[in-house]
Amino acid sequence: MPPKPLPAIAAIEPYKGGESVLPGIDKPVKLASNENPFGPSPKAKAAYIAAAERLHIYPEGSARLLREAIAARYGLDASRIICGAGSDEIFFLLARAFLEPGDEIIVPEHAFSIYAIAAHQSGAVVREAKCGLTADVDSMLAHVSSRTKIVFIANPNNPTGTYIPFSEVNRLHAGLPDHVLLVIDAAYAEYVRRNDYSSGLELAAETENVIMTRTFSKIYGMASARLGWGYGPPVVIDALNRTRGPFNVSIPSMMAGVAAIQDQEFLDRTVAHNDAELPRVAAALEAMGLSVTPSVGNFVLVHFAPGKAAEADAHLRKRGYILRGMKGYGFPDALRMTIGTVEQNDGALAALREFLR
Ligand code: PMP
Repeated sequence: MPPKPLPAIAAIEPYKGGESVLPGIDKPVKLASNENPFGPSPKAKAAYIAAAERLHIYPEGSARLLREAIAARYGLDASRIICGAGSDEIFFLLARAFLEPGDEIIVPEHAFSIYAIAAHQSGAVVREAKCGLTADVDSMLAHVSSRTKIVFIANPNNPTGTYIPFSEVNRLHAGLPDHVLLVIDAAYAEYVRRNDYSSGLELAAETENVIMTRTFSKIYGMASARLGWGYGPPVVIDALNRTRGPFNVSIPSMMAGVAAIQDQEFLDRTVAHNDAELPRVAAALEAMGLSVTPSVGNFVLVHFAPGKAAEADAHLRKRGYILRGMKGYGFPDALRMTIGTVEQNDGALAALREFLR
């Protein structure tokens, strides 16, 4: 008999990342993973390269320099920050530290799929709340049971690009029993320009059962560095520190993160670009007769006539553009398009126009 993985592991549907290669196409344009089309801040890149001198040294395990830089940037207590190899790692750590077989997590419909994968690794059960395109607090609260341990919400949500105002996040928190941990995944927070939005940092700072997570993969243009962080109550952070690998953040990634978080100008430029391109791309898609879910992130969910999304995807690929099919997220007739450079967006829009003609 060969070695046999645990049944909970064998049953996991592995995560499928955005593709970056197209057979026969030299340099495809990838608008599939909500990356920053301008790459990282030049300062982050320089810090990463400089850190190569220290490749032979184990990192300081708690990523202290990065925690201190984040704390200084946001006015936080550095001891309540955990850094991870992407925010994904933090979700896995949370699942390992807080879930056992038979426990339940609650996610809204169309949620980022890593939450369920992490929960399944611990043998937990995923309760998916019917929500439509935007998270529905009442629907989520209706799933709370004595077995509920974690509620995950991405705000803004990927892949819909929708968000709930802070008053709703507060209402969600207020409706949860004290023993339930609320995870607010704010991976796209920096892009949001709405007065009623908050990343959840205050709630994470002021309550005993909320952790907010952030990433360097999106607006910071550092997806390959695998860097994310979370801010939460001491008990939660302590549990995650016991669960993580002792050197889970590399020195180059950490130093790049320190430089990136201090480069506000790079961030401002990226936000300004998104502010201009997001409405322009959405309007162009709508002018083609496609419907677009209003987004506050750096991507749009584009809805096609039944059966047409896969054809559109194939046509775009022929022209060298990779978008993301959304079947796995409950949108068989939609593609998600990341906002790229003006030239990339125009190219993808032209290929779509050609398809629809
Ligand atoms: N949360 C959301 C909502 C995301 O879209 C992503 C990236 N796809 C992540 C978290 C994970 O990002 P990372 O692990 O690269 O920090």
